[in-house]
Amino acid sequence: MPELPEVETIARQLHGLVTGRTVAHFRSEWHRLTEPEPADLFAARLEGRTITGVRRRAKFVVLELDGADALIVSLRMTGQLLFRDREMKAHPYRRAHIAFADGTALEFADTRKFGRMAIVDGAALDGIGQRRRRVGEPLHRYLGVEPLSRRFTVRWLREFLQRRGRAAIKPLLLDQTGIAGIGNIYAIEALWRARVHPLRKAGSLGADEVERLHEALRWVLRKGIRFGGASRRDYRDARGKEGRMQQEFNVYDQAGEPCPRCGAEVMRTVVGGRGTFHCPRCQRVPRRS
Ligand SMILES: [Zn+2]
Repeated sequence: MPELPEVETIARQLHGLVTGRTVAHFRSEWHRLTEPEPADLFAARLEGRTITGVRRRAKFVVLELDGADALIVSLRMTGQLLFRDREMKAHPYRRAHIAFADGTALEFADTRKFGRMAIVDGAALDGIGQRRRRVGEPLHRYLGVEPLSRRFTVRWLREFLQRRGRAAIKPLLLDQTGIAGIGNIYAIEALWRARVHPLRKAGSLGADEVERLHEALRWVLRKGIRFGGASRRDYRDARGKEGRMQQEFNVYDQAGEPCPRCGAEVMRTVVGGRGTFHCPRCQRVPRRS
């Protein structure tokens, strides 16, 4: 599932590829893609609009439109945004097609059909949710702090971990309303780098561990971006190419392999319903668990 580095890679590419292009025609090929908005209304709002820039917020690709709106795309498990500058056979799992006035196009392909699109008020994306999100409210209004932004300081992280002190650290890192953009892969790699066990209670981390985790999160995310993201099954960038970060994993998907730091065997466990990897020697089991 694409996380911050994968979505950042796509957004940076698309910024160069589609900025300044005007939407001539939008067609949805999967009725749930624009839910709850009907596809024909969605198309009517999009057609004639010019894309003024592309960026990332959390795990959303944000295509800014002239006026104040933005088209946001959630890739979820298998979504791909593919730029087409010449006639090509449609992707077999195409779910939407955005044709630009100059003849180029953007295809949305999605094998598993969990991806979604919405047209939202662009400013609403950048407010940091002050209150807890209620079930059913759209996530994009409650996104947390961007871990590569200046707001994300050691002090902010320490206070956040104290506030949510009873939560296990790994599921807490995946909560998009706290820190935005981190998913399973980069949480696992960051906890290994910081030498923190995934089941530690957030409030139990010492000052040195919080500092290490802060550094580790930024380090793994930046490295992910530098390597163009991680391709396991479906992730492709906007040109249809794979990333290279999957060759750089230290513990993710490395069960039974030696820990690159100490040589102990990497273990696979399940934490909060997600497959998790850690080194039993570098990342000590919390006491009383
Ligand atoms: Zn180790």
